Amino acid sequence: LDPIHVIGGGLAGSEAAWQIAQAGVPVILHEMRPVRGTDAHKTEGLAELVCSNSFRSDDAESNAVGLLHQEMRSLSSLIMAKGDANQVPAGGALAVDRDGFSQAVTAALEAHPLVTIERGEIGGLPPEDWSSVIIATGPLTSPALAEAILSLTGETSLAFFDAIAPIVYRDSINMEIAWYQSRYDKVGPGGTGKDYINCPMTREQYEAFIDALLAGGKTEFKDWEADTPYFDGCLPIEVMAERGRETLRHGPMKPVGLTDPNNPTVKPYAIVQLRQDNALGTLFNMVGFQTKLKYGEQAQVFRMIPGLENAEFARLGGIHRNTYLNSPKLLDPTLRLKAMPRIRFAGQITGCEGYVESAAVGLMAGRFAAAERLGRAPAPLPSTTAMGALVNHITGGHIETIDEGPRSFQPMNVNFGLFPPIDFTPKSEDGKRLRGPAKALAKKKALTDRARSDLAAWLSGSAALAAAAE
Ligand code: FAD
Repeated sequence: LDPIHVIGGGLAGSEAAWQIAQAGVPVILHEMRPVRGTDAHKTEGLAELVCSNSFRSDDAESNAVGLLHQEMRSLSSLIMAKGDANQVPAGGALAVDRDGFSQAVTAALEAHPLVTIERGEIGGLPPEDWSSVIIATGPLTSPALAEAILSLTGETSLAFFDAIAPIVYRDSINMEIAWYQSRYDKVGPGGTGKDYINCPMTREQYEAFIDALLAGGKTEFKDWEADTPYFDGCLPIEVMAERGRETLRHGPMKPVGLTDPNNPTVKPYAIVQLRQDNALGTLFNMVGFQTKLKYGEQAQVFRMIPGLENAEFARLGGIHRNTYLNSPKLLDPTLRLKAMPRIRFAGQITGCEGYVESAAVGLMAGRFAAAERLGRAPAPLPSTTAMGALVNHITGGHIETIDEGPRSFQPMNVNFGLFPPIDFTPKSEDGKRLRGPAKALAKKKALTDRARSDLAAWLSGSAALAAAAE
């Protein structure tokens, strides 16, 4: 069999190479370190963790990343196997000994008879005679390769920085205060005139919010991020507030073209708008609220906004150096570049965020590429599973902004907002309706139960298909 080439031996590339080899297909893994380094990696080991040593929560009953761990284990993930084998105590989280973990991943791949590791940078588009390629070069993709990808995908399709506005779970917004309306009731393509959720503020509330924003601690750029450009149109809100207390009221918080149905005769002093972020309608992003406020302070400051007092955040805001594609536009459901289907993408460059998510997308890309090489149809996972929900979000579940402004696809960790909603009325054992945290927990449990049962059905279906193909 002609080998599959994987570029980048990080979390995603190592997992993809392993899955391909385990499927019986030869694979060449190209890793540029130590020939060429990145600004964050320090070793030449594969799957190096560049910052924290945590894979986050290992709770598969009520946490989306814990469920992702469990699913990856059932799909024979190398990253999870070596993470488990190199665990260090961390309460309910899965944390690992970073050197032991990276060495174990490297050793497993070096020892696999179908894996060849080549050290060196791929500094341009993969040669034409590489018939199947996975690009998994991560947030710090080398400039030469990034330029080549840019020439292939176009100016607006590859970003070098993210400017992330927080995302809120729709069902945590207080709709007794907030209301649906588009500015001037404008009906855009696919819109209804009621596409935004609006949160009104009085003058006193606005002034208190600006004070909190200005006082809040901000995260600093790392040295190598110091040249991060602030684009007009997506300045951090605290930078806007520093330019003048009224700036936000004339920018993302302008109160024009909107009427508060609870108080139709009084014009709010400022209005925060949230826009639907995923096709399922479970997540809403805070429009224009990209920020470098510290995580802990973001939740506190944003809950001062009327309607968001109990907001739960699927993602907090941030601004980082990050190379990633506008994947919903560019990739097909099996992660292939629509414009050049011999190339797949995997890992953080596809717009997922985090070690585990990157490895999960690598796992799926590896399986898709191996299935294709073996002449089988790649089988995407159900979108009710954590793996399926993540890939679905990247390749199509995210909806594009319906009006002008910066493009809205931004990197995302796995979270329950990416799962199709589940229709159920949670009741306690004595038949009473559950409320508050007990209700939220019951809902998560129902989502993880559904995911497990759908993954089990998918696994038995794909085992049957593989047996039939032999
Ligand atoms: P990587 O793991 O970065 O792997 C990409 C690999 O490709 C690298 O080994 C690189 O050397 C190689 N490469 C790049 N270009 C080329 C080329 N042209 N030819 C050959 N090889 C190439 N996530 C978390 O979950 N927790 C954290 O604490 C965390 N902290 C982070 C801190 C920083 C500074 C950064 C940049 C990211 C952080 N992340 C964190 C996100 C993290 O990088 C990703 O989640 C994860 O490492 C991405 O996996 P990946 O496989 O896509 O990329």
